[in-house]
Amino acid sequence: MSAWIEAAKVLAVNSEVVVKCPECGDGNLLVIDAGAGSSHVERHIHCPKCGAYNALLKRIDGV
Ligand SMILES: [Zn+2]
Repeated sequence: MSAWIEAAKVLAVNSEVVVKCPECGDGNLLVIDAGAGSSHVERHIHCPKCGAYNALLKRIDGV
C-alpha cells in the first residue's frame, strides 16, 4: 500500500508525471480528476494494464 501513497504523493503535485503502477510495476498510471465540491477534486488513479485503482482527495481552495 505504501507504493500507492508514494505514487499519489507525486501525482497530487503533478498529474502529468508518468508513474508506474505500484501493483504490477508495468502499466503507466492514468489520472482522471473529478469535481468533489468547490474545495476539493477527486483524483482517480488507475492502471490500464492490471486494473488497479486508487483515488485521493486534493484541496483546490486557497492553496
Ligand atoms: Zn498495474
